Order: sequence, then C-alpha cells, then structure tokens
Amino acid sequence: MKFTPVPIALSQCAKTFHGTRVLEPLDLTIGAGETLVLLGPSGCGKTTTLRIVAGLETPDAGGAVRFGDDDVTRLPIERRQVGMVFQSYALFPNLTVRGNVGYGLKIAKVDPALARKRVDELLAMMRLEAHADKPIHQLSGGQRQRVALARALAREPRVLLLDEPLTALDARLRDTLRREMNALLRGLGVTTVYVTHDQAEAMELGDRIVVMSAGRIEQIGTPRDIYYRPVNRAVAQFVGTINRVAGQWRDGVLATDGGSVGLPAGLARDERAELFFRPEDGRLVDPANASLRGTVDTVSFLGERTRVSVSGAAPEALVIDVPGRTDWAPGSVVGIEIAPEGLIALP
Ligand code: ATP
Repeated sequence: MKFTPVPIALSQCAKTFHGTRVLEPLDLTIGAGETLVLLGPSGCGKTTTLRIVAGLETPDAGGAVRFGDDDVTRLPIERRQVGMVFQSYALFPNLTVRGNVGYGLKIAKVDPALARKRVDELLAMMRLEAHADKPIHQLSGGQRQRVALARALAREPRVLLLDEPLTALDARLRDTLRREMNALLRGLGVTTVYVTHDQAEAMELGDRIVVMSAGRIEQIGTPRDIYYRPVNRAVAQFVGTINRVAGQWRDGVLATDGGSVGLPAGLARDERAELFFRPEDGRLVDPANASLRGTVDTVSFLGERTRVSVSGAAPEALVIDVPGRTDWAPGSVVGIEIAPEGLIALP
C-alpha cells in the first residue's frame, strides 16, 4: 500500500443551516501526513468541519478547501479520494469482511488480482485474516471498527477522515484500540482528520489538537500545548481537570482564602488574571509552613492515583492527585504546594 499524503487547507470555511450559523469562518491547515484531532463538546461544529473536508457539505460562499494544490471545494466526496470511518461503521451487513474491505476496489473496477492482494494486505494489517470470510454480524465491535478502517484505506486515500470511530465501544476496548490506532496512524503516514469529544483520544492520537467550542476554534496546538498552555479558560476547563485560585493581587502575590501564591517568574503580571494548576502539579504537605492550607473533603482512590479534594484553600475546592497508595482522612488539615512550572495565569 502506498499513501501519498497531501496537506489540507481550509480557508474561511463557514456553515449556515437554515439561517443559523453553526460554524464561524475558519482557517485551518493540516500538514501532509499529520493527524489533526478536532476536539470539543457536542454541537461545537467538529463533524460539520470534517464533512466540509470530506465533501459531504459545502462551505458557505467564500469558503475554500484545498488538498495540496487542488481546489476541491466543489468536488463531491467520491472525487476527493478520501477514506472515511463513522462512529456507526456503516458496514454492508450482507457482505463478508473481505467483501466490505474490497467493495470500493470492485466499484472502481480495480484489476481483481491487484484488489485481492490489497485486501489481503489490509486484512493482515488489521489482524483480520482469520475473519475474512465471516459476515459482519459475527464480529465484535472492535473487529467491525477495524473492518471499517481497512475499507476506508483500501483505495489508498489522500486523506483519512475519522468521526468518533471509537465512541461506540466499551471503555476497555476503547483504550486498547486507541493504542492500536495510534501505532497504525503513525505507521501509515496518511493525512488524517479525527473527530472526538474524548480528551484521552485527542491527546494520544493528535499531532495537533484543535479545540472547538460553539462553532469557533479556541486553540490549535500540540497535546502538551493544549494541556499545559491553554490560551483561555474554556480550553483549560475542557481539557483535563484544572484548579482555579482566585483572590487579590498584591505585589505579585495572589492572596486567597487559605494563604497566598506567588506569581512564578516568566508569567506576565496581570492584575485581572487568576492562577490555575493541574491536580498532578499540586502536593499535599505539612500545613505549618505551606503556601495554602485547607481541609480534606473527599478522597477518591482511582488505582494508579488518589484524588483528594481540599476545601478552604481557594474559593472553590482544589483537587490534588497523589500516588495511589497514599491515603488521607477526610477532615485532615493539609498544606498545598504548587510546582511553579505548573502555574498557569489566565485573564
Ligand atoms: P457531536 O459531537 O454531537 O456530533 P459536533 O461538534 O460534531 O457535535 P456538528 O455535528 O458539527 O457538531 O453540529 C454543529 C451544529 O450544527 C449543531 O448545533 C447541529 O445541530 C447543527 N447541524 C449539523 N448538521 C445540521 C443539518 N444538516 N441541518 C441543521 N443543523 C445541523
């Protein structure tokens, strides 16, 4: 199999349905071979954006879609050389696994010997050889998902489009398949747009993540950028758990309910800003000399970590992750120290 990945460029792509703007004009470029994840809450416009790339929707007047040097804005999906996988898989129930994977090749009248070779290759890639002649209904969810992926890749698409492909699976299988999908996408090197509302999927699979909300792009960045350097509260709060420390600034120190936190070096001083930090960047310490003090509210043992909620330190309870084996009794008075590099100032 040979993929010739192309870069994708969306310029000023907006979408209006029945007079309602669901997508504000957006500009987005996706590098050749890159996996770009569109992440955001339900209804924010992820699927609409993906469908514009696919050719299932046309952008409002003024919008353009380019694959490399080709303007594909007016081309329907069948002329864009895209492979697509949906949440529902949309497999043909009356065909076998082999029949599903080879369907597009047959329609395109690809030489049968070549088609067979390619289908065999895909079945091997997806570890489906043992199931080649089974009807779809005899397969598990994870196997069906791999058939859908194999079918999407059969015609060596220029672009692979995945719309919540793992959402229908149970949590455990989703974890395994996410890992497989990661290895597969890295190995294929095909330009991929992946829609999900699941942060773990976005983090693991995206070379870059586009965080969307209400029809707009809030931030584009690597998973680490998005997690550690969110540009605003919407992104900070949508991706992962984050603590907020609000209070009064005085000489670069933020005084809050249970103590005070100094503005770390390198962060611009902004009297309107509040400080934020991730649960794993906080530490529970002896309250005597700690920056912040509070009382343990709830303790949730999550296996690899224990999540402790502390009230009284800031206007809202702070969530601190400690190693799984560490236990705390509710009601204990604790100190909190925050790793300086973990502090995020947001207006
Ligand atoms: P989800 O994760 O729930 O699929 P999403 O972020 O993918 O959400 P979209 O499917 O892009 O969101 O939908 C964005 C908005 O556009 C929603 O308010 C939706 O109801 C609306 N919408 C999408 N398709 C159509 C359509 N064909 N006609 C009218 N409204 C639509």
